[in-house]
Amino acid sequence: MSRYDWMDQALCAQTDPEIFFDGRYNFAEKLCTACPVRQACEAQADLCERGLDQKYRHGLWAGKTPRGRAGTDTAGFYDARDDHIRQLGAAGWDAIAIAEETNCSTRTVWRVLADQRDSFSEAA
Ligand code: SF4
Repeated sequence: MSRYDWMDQALCAQTDPEIFFDGRYNFAEKLCTACPVRQACEAQADLCERGLDQKYRHGLWAGKTPRGRAGTDTAGFYDARDDHIRQLGAAGWDAIAIAEETNCSTRTVWRVLADQRDSFSEAA
């Protein structure tokens, strides 16, 4: 059993994937509404796109457009998470531990900590 088993029931896996990227999404939205794994799909989209700018989001996921999904990412949530990452980094936590604590990828941790280092370098 894998954490991706839910994808076997995904309705989008049984149709032309292009309809999820055509920008109109008419038929795709109907499929998502009827899809039995929509909740898992939405969680996966959130996991994959967490912290991404809208311009890097593509296609319809769980019935939500890139703009709609970006709208669920409140700036406040990510600002608070990034502050938490910086605090843990300053306290000497390693990237893997920080990622587990803040429920994000180590890549995100490195990005946040690198941005902080860059801002210190520019200020010096
Ligand atoms: S809800 Fe997700 S898994 Fe289901 S059809 Fe829509 S995009 Fe595919």
